[in-house]
Amino acid sequence: MSEHPAASASAADRREDLIALMREMQSRHECPLVATRTKLVFGAGNADADLMFVGEAPGFYEDQQGLPFVGRAGKLLDQLLVEIGLERRDTFITNVLKCRPPDNRDPSPDEIEVCKPYLFRQIQLIEPKVVCTLGNFSLKLLTRSATGITRVHGQPQEHELGGRVVQLYPLYHPAAALRGTNVLEQLREDFHRLPALIAAQEPAQAPAPQPDPASQMDLFG
Ligand code: URA
Repeated sequence: MSEHPAASASAADRREDLIALMREMQSRHECPLVATRTKLVFGAGNADADLMFVGEAPGFYEDQQGLPFVGRAGKLLDQLLVEIGLERRDTFITNVLKCRPPDNRDPSPDEIEVCKPYLFRQIQLIEPKVVCTLGNFSLKLLTRSATGITRVHGQPQEHELGGRVVQLYPLYHPAAALRGTNVLEQLREDFHRLPALIAAQEPAQAPAPQPDPASQMDLFG
């Protein structure tokens, strides 16, 4: 894997490195799921996003299109983003695994282990302020804890991720919300607290951030 750019790397340099990382994964990725997947699902969105989402693994539609969260769970994610005044392209969305497990089975420990460095590298390059884990797999991986989502959803935690202290915000997986009204209500409630959490990460005297036109990974959706 290529080296981390200098600490002061510009958004454009970090975006270039993110694209290089994707190309690297496309050409040589040691995950056993490469043999059965259709497309690599690297992640998509703004390469300089303040807000990042980490799901579990691509499903059928993601595997076909090479994009994360494009099925029913993704539509719910889009709707919840609209409710808080955001769009998918304001964020960066990825998964713990970048290849679909057959029949959408759970990721295995060895698959998670092989994919883990890529996720940490993505976080290092994007430099988000808030990382939302969606469901248990990303939560347990990024918190390095066995505590599950039911106990901690909606409670921000500080973690060192990709060399920086980041707010990790555990959310229920949208697919779980599609299966139960209570989970949906909880997810929506937690989601609506996100804007304040992001705003609270702004340095006190920082000027309003200007969008960097070079940061959008339009290549990927
Ligand atoms: N579920 C996930 O965890 N990720 C996707 O990309 C789609 C569904």
